[in-house]
Amino acid sequence: MPRLVMKFGGTSVANMDRIRNVARHVARERAAGFDVAVVVSAMSGKTNELVGWCQDAAKIFDPREYDVVVSSGEQVTAGLLAMTLVGQGIPARSWLGWQIPILTTSAHGSARIDEIDGTSLVDGFSRGEVAVIAGFQGLDPETRSVTTLGRGGSDTSAVAIAAAVKADRCDIYTDVDGVYTTDPRIVPKARRLDRIAFEEMLEMASLGAKVLQVRSVELAMTHKVKTFVRSSFDDPDFPQPGTLMCDEEDIVEQPIVTGIAFARDEAQITLKRVADRPGVAAAVFMPLAEANINVDMIVQVASDDGRTTDMTFTVPGVEFERAKAILIKAQSEIAFESLHGASDVVKISAIGVGMRSHAGVAARAFRALADKGINIRAITTSEIKFSVLIDSAYTELAVRTLHSLYGLDQG
Ligand code: ASP
Ligand code: MG
Repeated sequence: MPRLVMKFGGTSVANMDRIRNVARHVARERAAGFDVAVVVSAMSGKTNELVGWCQDAAKIFDPREYDVVVSSGEQVTAGLLAMTLVGQGIPARSWLGWQIPILTTSAHGSARIDEIDGTSLVDGFSRGEVAVIAGFQGLDPETRSVTTLGRGGSDTSAVAIAAAVKADRCDIYTDVDGVYTTDPRIVPKARRLDRIAFEEMLEMASLGAKVLQVRSVELAMTHKVKTFVRSSFDDPDFPQPGTLMCDEEDIVEQPIVTGIAFARDEAQITLKRVADRPGVAAAVFMPLAEANINVDMIVQVASDDGRTTDMTFTVPGVEFERAKAILIKAQSEIAFESLHGASDVVKISAIGVGMRSHAGVAARAFRALADKGINIRAITTSEIKFSVLIDSAYTELAVRTLHSLYGLDQG
């Protein structure tokens, strides 16, 4: 029989009514002839509540115990969905991460999956059982500790299980009906995409679109898992297809730009009058790297006097204070005159595999933003995307401008 992995996020299992609705989606696919594994998240808001309790319990908590606590939300929904299915006459059983097992690294709170043995799930299929799997959870075999895969990790559980049981398809059910050209809350004219290339989805997710955990997209891409993003709010009897993540070659009409993403959680740091000598970039960025702070966009101005230069770069918003403190501490060593920072910035990115074969795509955006009086603080480009850093006050205007510039508006 063909195999299907279905994943339901927090809003899709938010209460017993929603869980019964999930059971209807599962029943439909089973009736269509699939062996089904369902991966569930915790009820919406649950994981945040559990994280809050950990923070309340101890200022600096043991990451091992953190995982014991935060993984519990998924256990509840897995059990409840299995009961609901059985109550409706559909054979089902729940599986916790360690029972499968889903073996991971020991990085508590953000563990990576090393290996999944799909045998027990497949045995269940041969007994006609639906496997209801608690997402987000894993097991560190060295210490026999429960681990979790990072926030949003149930997406990754689902794709990894689909790869492990060689599923024909993986359907990620959420509260939107697919992947959009940009956030429809910002641009009402945003369009749902029928298809998106793995690489584009990877960029979209990394650059701020919050539909899927980045790691799940990487896994889908490397294992070629045919993955759909679709809505659990559709009538289970009239399901809509959603958006398919697939190989670039499987998209017939490839636009130049597929989507516009934005990330507000960035901060900008500028070092003024840095001594312009070999090794200066290393002097600035080594201490940040050692502190595990990810630097993203970097702009170095050519020095006019040959002695000093200005350097601008971005760091994650949550690391802003720490990054500034590290640089100030190293001020005499790096030899800069002053440090300026801004956290009211946003990074806006345009993504599309079509950029590979078209010149001047970014240049058009710079013109269009300039025409709206929007100043660009920093720019980065790569093969299939470019990003600009601007004042956050202009977020909506800039996203809308680029969205229509590249012909993404619907209607
Ligand atoms: N419940 C976890 C979270 O909220 C995992 C997930 O939903 O994917 O991050
Ligand atoms: Mg999610």
